[in-house]
Amino acid sequence: MIKYNGKGVYGAVAIGKISIFKRQEANVRRVHVEDIEAEKARVEEAKAKAESQLSEIYEKAVKEVGETNAQIFEIHMMMIEDEDYNESINSIIESQSVNAEYAVALTADNFSAMFASMDDSYMRARAADVKDISNRIIACLGNDVSSAEIGGEKVIICADDLAPSETVSLDKEKVLAFVTAFGSSNSHTAILARNMNIPAIIGAGEEFLNSIKDGDMAIVDGFTGEIIVDPDEETLKVMEKKMSDDLEKKKLLQELRGKGNITKDGTKINIFANIGGIDNIGAVLANDAGGIGLFRSEFLYLENTDYPTEEQQFSAYKKVLESMAGKKVIIRTLDIGADKQVDYFNLKKEENPAMGLRAIRICLKRPDIFKTQLRALYRASAFGNLGIMFPMITSVKEVDDILEICEQVKKELDADGIEYSKKVEMGIMIETPAAAIISDRLAPKVDFFSVGTNDLTQYTLACDRQNSDVESFCDTHHEAILRLIEMSAKNAHANGTWIGICGELAADTSLTEEFLRMGIDELSVSPSFVLKVRDKVRSIDLSK
Ligand code: PEP
Ligand code: MG
Repeated sequence: MIKYNGKGVYGAVAIGKISIFKRQEANVRRVHVEDIEAEKARVEEAKAKAESQLSEIYEKAVKEVGETNAQIFEIHMMMIEDEDYNESINSIIESQSVNAEYAVALTADNFSAMFASMDDSYMRARAADVKDISNRIIACLGNDVSSAEIGGEKVIICADDLAPSETVSLDKEKVLAFVTAFGSSNSHTAILARNMNIPAIIGAGEEFLNSIKDGDMAIVDGFTGEIIVDPDEETLKVMEKKMSDDLEKKKLLQELRGKGNITKDGTKINIFANIGGIDNIGAVLANDAGGIGLFRSEFLYLENTDYPTEEQQFSAYKKVLESMAGKKVIIRTLDIGADKQVDYFNLKKEENPAMGLRAIRICLKRPDIFKTQLRALYRASAFGNLGIMFPMITSVKEVDDILEICEQVKKELDADGIEYSKKVEMGIMIETPAAAIISDRLAPKVDFFSVGTNDLTQYTLACDRQNSDVESFCDTHHEAILRLIEMSAKNAHANGTWIGICGELAADTSLTEEFLRMGIDELSVSPSFVLKVRDKVRSIDLSK
């Protein structure tokens, strides 16, 4: 029995036989050709075939992992048509009088080496994509270059790394788990695996890959990131129990779908979900969340290489609102800065970024960016039940300034004859001690509060949430934090304002009863925790 460790990207356990993903490198030979034009025409033909394959993979991916995650295949289609890429292939054929396969392979080597040497991690990751599309074109030229050999039995797929198209092309019905030796938790493959709900571990290391062979028995623990090869009887028993307990728990929780979030004595609460992108909507619906309590809109900015346009934002917000079919969707305005840096914002390097120019502070200093987002949000409001929420509030003046900008935006929309909902709820995050302490002054100005316990904890206890060395000082149950939440709840209700919690603490079921006793109206948690929190709420009796 040997244990290896990687990073679990989807929490579940799988037990079964290993199947090593077979990838035969394209055996491309350099061949002299006379008819240059015919060779270039072969490339065009192969490209068309590759694009049609990618379009099929894209459709399959949309169904399996959602549109946003499937976008990588649209990017692949665009890469195939990239001018520089094509110029390189054609010029190699012309200048060296060589075959199409060789020109594509050489271009792939050159381009992937160029991407691999870049500073930007996003661009570095594109090296694998160039290889992926080039291998596909070479395959379409008549050379089969890769295959996923899976027999009838369900197996644990192990690979050095998997290209996104390889991950999606695998028959999901036959995959027990994925384990890759390399790759990062933010790679597309990891995201795809997570969304396909398949236990997955990435970064298990080269030693792991070198020591396994097809048919080896293994246990994949996606919770801990551990892979146990050739487990002994006792370990097998323990892990079989862990797997069946997990499945049982997930099954039992599924029975709570469609049931109310209601305590034994009849107190009702909303349990909503937090999302970071459109592709999480599937999980929100699958877990029966009552709405979206926090949509971290910054993902649109983090994924882009330039400011997302009003149109891009409008279409994303509209899609979320329409998918939620009238259920409430609270979209938080941009929370960039601190740990979420975006190059094109050109923010100055700060000594203390968590206490620096972030979130609403950037928006108030750069009203152009803020207004673009607000216009997109108001326009989208016509398509569902929208709430807008503002992060990192510390003063009454900020809220006044924000509301004034919102009024300006609405006036501009009126002048342009653009429709928007007149019932958009306006809320602020209570995530600084200042906001909690002056919550009596803030409550009359807004429709709702949402407590961001992640930041509230960091600012109240002076513990940088990024610094693992201070984790032991970061007691999320600290009386100071609970008192600030209680104070905010009292002040909210005294002014007819409702209050939710959207930080991680909302999913901490050891506090659910206390939150209910404080009168918290909504808990917004990761989609996978919705049913767990519902289960807890239903077990509580507040009359006792
Ligand atoms: C929070 O601070 O609790 C919160 C929900 O916001 P974020 O984690 O995005 O900072
Ligand atoms: Mg926060």
